[in-house]
Amino acid sequence: MKAKELLDNYNLYITEGRVNILDIFLKSNVGLSEKDIQDRLSKKSDRATIYRTLKVFKETGIVHPVSAEGSATKYVLKKEPQEHLHFKCTKCRNISCLADIQISGYELPQGYKKIESNFLIIGICNECNN
Ligand SMILES: [Zn+2]
Ligand SMILES: [Zn+2]
Repeated sequence: MKAKELLDNYNLYITEGRVNILDIFLKSNVGLSEKDIQDRLSKKSDRATIYRTLKVFKETGIVHPVSAEGSATKYVLKKEPQEHLHFKCTKCRNISCLADIQISGYELPQGYKKIESNFLIIGICNECNN
């Protein structure tokens, strides 16, 4: 899937900034923070642009946020519509989606309203464990 197709699928205008940021997500298999994205952009973008783009991506569901204590919120391309487990490695500090492990069949008690979910496991990832 190319960045332009993806934007098109989500009915978003194709802009250079969006394509560049989406390209970075498409090349990464771990979650990226705002700063990770800024570091990887070849042409420097101001923080406000990155922030705005991420906000649009999040609202339309192209990416989903994963937050963990002690690190900035990371964003991951949403390949799975279903809720799934996430894993944070304490060595490389990467956060990744364990999209094959889906969460289903739970219901919140009455009166609770979900805003977002994380389902985070903390440990050592397979690469660091080698
Ligand atoms: Zn690791
Ligand atoms: Zn995920």
